[in-house]
Parts: sequence; structure tokens; C-alpha cells
Amino acid sequence: MPKVGNLHIENLFQSDIRAMTGECNKVGGINMAQGICDLPTPPEVLKATKNAIDQDLSVYAPAEGLTSLRQAIAGKLEQYNKIKADPETEISVTMGGTGAFAASLMSLFNAGDGLVLFEPFYGYHLNEALLCGLKVDFVPMSPGSFEIKEEALRAAIQPYTKAIVLCTPGNPSGHMLTQKEIDVVAKIAKEKDLVVFSDEIYEYFTYQGREHLSPGAHPDLADRTITVMGLSKTFSITGWRLGYMVAPAEWMQKIRVVHDLLYICAPTPLQHGVVEGFSLPQTYYDELREEFFEKRELFCGALKEAGLEPMVPEGAYYVLSDVSPLGCQNSKEAAMKILEKTGVASVPGRAFFQSPEGEKYVRFCFAVEDEPLKEACRRLKGGF
Ligand code: PLP
Repeated sequence: MPKVGNLHIENLFQSDIRAMTGECNKVGGINMAQGICDLPTPPEVLKATKNAIDQDLSVYAPAEGLTSLRQAIAGKLEQYNKIKADPETEISVTMGGTGAFAASLMSLFNAGDGLVLFEPFYGYHLNEALLCGLKVDFVPMSPGSFEIKEEALRAAIQPYTKAIVLCTPGNPSGHMLTQKEIDVVAKIAKEKDLVVFSDEIYEYFTYQGREHLSPGAHPDLADRTITVMGLSKTFSITGWRLGYMVAPAEWMQKIRVVHDLLYICAPTPLQHGVVEGFSLPQTYYDELREEFFEKRELFCGALKEAGLEPMVPEGAYYVLSDVSPLGCQNSKEAAMKILEKTGVASVPGRAFFQSPEGEKYVRFCFAVEDEPLKEACRRLKGGF
């Protein structure tokens, strides 16, 4: 067999998230590992998509996405995110938020350029960067507050650093950026002339009246920010692979070329279908928030009772839980013990940290239907 292999991926392995899903399936457990969000898709979106398939709208879409969809996105960005973007030149429909991030990294940076991530981080941000041969530096965040501090961010920036990656609401922290934190990022990004990525895929999952703030709306960040958005979570369509992004026109031209080379386009009939989603009434989002708030309260309450202190999230639908009381050697052992004793799957904290701090935690995803969620709570409260 020829000896082949890309050096950049030598140390990359299947994510702990997928691995735990596999372990969960083996025992027929309750999967709270992967953020699959198995809740129903809005019927309006399903109906419009079925219509598009019935009408056989099956050919390649333009590389940048359907005009009607980009126009709908522009309206939503202006109204909800306070971002003004030209659908012709600054907005693209992508193969999920994942495709948006990958195409951006590949088109804007060279191997050896640097990226700064806040720890705990979302594993795909790290591993896609490594896949592109980028160097990654980390800003450790204090668990519990996760606040961005100017000195800590400055300390992570190196001469080769080209970009900072934000995620708000954060996965796995659930942290939502405040205006003060965005001001800090804006000040440093401007001073050091850095690109800022803002992954806002959980923008509608916010609790207790917290307002989602988009860094790209900051006057000093507008011309240096790539905002990555997704529809996977908003419409519970993780398997459809649809997302979108906003970037300055000059960068977007290049990003579109790379996205075209990788994927050609996002699935055409599904693009037609989700246009309908942009006309859903405000009540859809209010109900989403309410439903997930109730799930958060229920599940975090159960973790407390089980003695696995939760870091109650401000947004998104994950919770890091302190598993030190289980007395395991590391977070993988803890996640396996929880699965074995209760049939509930989580992700070892090490998947989100480069420091040993991660070994104290596991992450649960509470975007599951009410019945399995209640069952998971009952089992966890039953003890180990
Ligand atoms: N960004 C974050 C922070 C995520 O947690 C996820 C999925 O879990 C994604 C992006 C993936 O998004 P998409 O399904 O749009 O590729």
C-alpha cells in the first residue's frame, strides 16, 4: 500500500463527540453527547422544502446561494443582528457553519499563520485550523464566568497571529459576550490588525432575557469580522447542512471561490425551503427560548442533585458539569462511568480544553425531547 498521509492531520482523530455517540448507540443509551437537536423542524420549512422537491428544483444553485435566500438573510441580519450587509457581495449561503469556517480559513490564511481560541473551545474550530496547518494559541477562561479579559487576550497574541475566533453564545461554555467584552476584542483586533471570526450558530438560544450581541455590528469590527451563522440549530435541521456567513466583499470573493471548489453549492431544494423559515413569527423564537429555558432548568437541577455541579449556561444548549466527585482518573473515564451507570452519554471535557483543566468536566447537550430528557434526569438523580 502506498505510504501517504497529510502531516497536518497526523494527530487528528475522530472527535470524542462522535466517539461517545457510538458508545451510546452500543448500549441503547440517551444521547446527550452530540448537539444533534432532534426536535421537530418547523412545518412551514418542511412544507416549502417538500414543494421545492416536488417541483424538481434539483439543479446546482449559484455558488453564493439563492438570491431570494440571501435577501431574506440580509433582512434578518439588519433587524436581529444590527449588521448591514449587501446580499450581492457580502453574504453567502454555505454548507453549514462548518463549511463557512473551513472555506474562510482556506481562502484567507497560509500554513503557519496563527489563530487565537478561547478555552474551552469548540473542537471543530481547533481541528479545522490544524487541518489548514495554522498555529493555534489559547486564552484560558475562568470556568464559571468565562469573561474575556484584555490582559489574557493580549498575552495569547503572537507575531504570527492573524485571527481571533469568538463563539457567542458559546459551545461548550454557554457564555454570551457582553458589550464590554466586544469592546475589548475590537480594541485589540484594531490595534493588532486582526481578522475576527464570530460563530453565532446559537444566536436564538438565549435565556432570561439576555440579548444576543453580534460583534460584527461594532463599528470597529464591521470591516474585519467574518460572522458565521447556521440554520442547523435554529430550525432543528442539523442534517440538512445549511448555514450562511457575512464577510467584507473583498474576502467574500475569495471565500466563494473556495466554497465552490469544496462543495459547489449548498443543497438547492433545501435552500428554497428555508427561505420560508425567515418569515416565521416572533412567537416561534419566543417559544424556542422558553422551551429550552425549561430544559436548562430541569437538567441543571438534576445535575445539582446528582452532585455534578453544572455551569449553568447563559445561552446555547450545553452544560459543562464538574465530575470531580466521581473520583475518575480523567474526563473520558468519567463520561464512560456515567454512561455505564445511567445510560446517559456526555462528552469528556478534554474535547474542549488543551489544558488538564478539562479533565474535571463533561459536557451534556440538553437539546433532546422532553421524555428522554426527563428520563436522563431521573437516572442521574438516582446516583452512581
Ligand atoms: N459552530 C458551533 C459552535 C457548533 O456547536 C456547531 C455544531 O454543533 C457548529 C458550528 C456546526 O454548525 P453547522 O451544522 O451549521 O455546520
